[in-house]
Amino acid sequence: MGLTIPKTMKALVLRSPSDFGIEIVPVPAVGAMEVLCRVRAVAICGTDPEVIHGRLKGIWPPAYPFIPGHEWSGEVVAVGPGVTTFAIGDRVAGEAWKGCGYCRSCVEGDYNFCENYGKTETGMRHYGFMNQGAYAEYNTYSVKAIHKISERISFNEGSLVDTAGVAAHGAELIGITPGGTVAVIGPGPIGLMAMRVAKIKGAARVIAIGRKGRLESAKRLAADDVVDFEHEDVVAAVRRLTNGRGVDEVFEASAGEGTLKQAIMMVRPGGRIALLGVPSEKAEERVPFKYICRNEIKIFGVKANPNVSETVVSWMESGRLVVKDLITHTFPLDDIHAALETFETRKDGAVKVVINP
Ligand SMILES: [Zn+2]
Ligand SMILES: [Zn+2]
Repeated sequence: MGLTIPKTMKALVLRSPSDFGIEIVPVPAVGAMEVLCRVRAVAICGTDPEVIHGRLKGIWPPAYPFIPGHEWSGEVVAVGPGVTTFAIGDRVAGEAWKGCGYCRSCVEGDYNFCENYGKTETGMRHYGFMNQGAYAEYNTYSVKAIHKISERISFNEGSLVDTAGVAAHGAELIGITPGGTVAVIGPGPIGLMAMRVAKIKGAARVIAIGRKGRLESAKRLAADDVVDFEHEDVVAAVRRLTNGRGVDEVFEASAGEGTLKQAIMMVRPGGRIALLGVPSEKAEERVPFKYICRNEIKIFGVKANPNVSETVVSWMESGRLVVKDLITHTFPLDDIHAALETFETRKDGAVKVVINP
C-alpha cells in the first residue's frame, strides 16, 4: 500500500485499575470498512481518568489489558476491504461512537443509543471505552467514525472535534435563541466549547458560572459576564444580569450537586436546559416540580455527539470555532503520567491537555 507499517507500536496500556504504562504492542490489523490511522494527537477527556482508574471497570473497559483514548486526530495509513471514501494520506478526526448500523436507534440516526451496545460482533464500537482507543501510535477505525479535516486544522485542533461535538449536539437539542443570553454552569473544556457554540448559533451574550482559575479562563476566553458561586447566590446574580427575566438557555456542564435546580431557577419561562455534565451513576437531584410545570421549563439530557462532527469540522475550518487557545499543554506519549497529572490537578491552568504519540 505504499507505506511501510511497522508490526509493533508504542501504546498506553492499562493493566488493571490505575496500573498503566507505555508498552510495545502489535499494530492492529485493519478489517473491512475500516482504516488504519497513525494517531497524531489525542486529547485527554474528563472521562479518561475514570477509565484509567477503573472506576467503571467491567463496562469501561470491559477487560484488561486495554488501550483508552477517544478524542483524536491523525492520518490514514492503510485502508481495509470495501473502503471507497478514504485514502492513504487523508487527515482525519475521530468520533468515539459507531453504532451497529441496523438496530432501530441506529436506523433512525440515534447511534448514541445503539441497542447493540457492548456487542462488538454486531459492528458496534465505542473507541477508547469499550474498544481499543487512541493513546497509541496506530489504531483502526470504522469509516463511520472518522471525518476528513483539511490543512486548515492542525492535528492538535482536530483532536478536539469530539469534545466540541458534545456541546454542538447539546445546542442542537435545545436550540439557541438568536440575540439571546445563555448561561453555562461549569467552565471546563465542554463548558467553554458550549459558550463558543452558543455564540456561533446566534446567542448575543454568555454568562459563565464557576470559580477560581476556570472562571478566570472563561472570562478571558469566552464569557461576557462571570458569576463566582463561592461568593454569590448564582440564581440572584443571573437574574440581576438579565433584568430579572432569566436567561434563554442554560448549559449545565459541571454535574455538581444542586446545579440542576439552579439552572431551573435561572432560566426564563419557556427556557431550555441542556445537561452536558456527567454525573455519577447514583446522583439524584431534588427539583421544584410545580415551578417546572408552571413555567414550561424544558430539560434535555445530552449523550455524546451524534451527527455533528461534520458541522464542527466546518466551523473549525472556517475559523468560526476557535479551539487552539483551549489547548494549554502538549506532551509526547512517553510522558503520559505527567500529562494526566497536569490534567487531573488542573496544573498551571490546564484546560485541554493533548498527547502527540
Ligand atoms: Zn471525551
Ligand atoms: Zn445500533
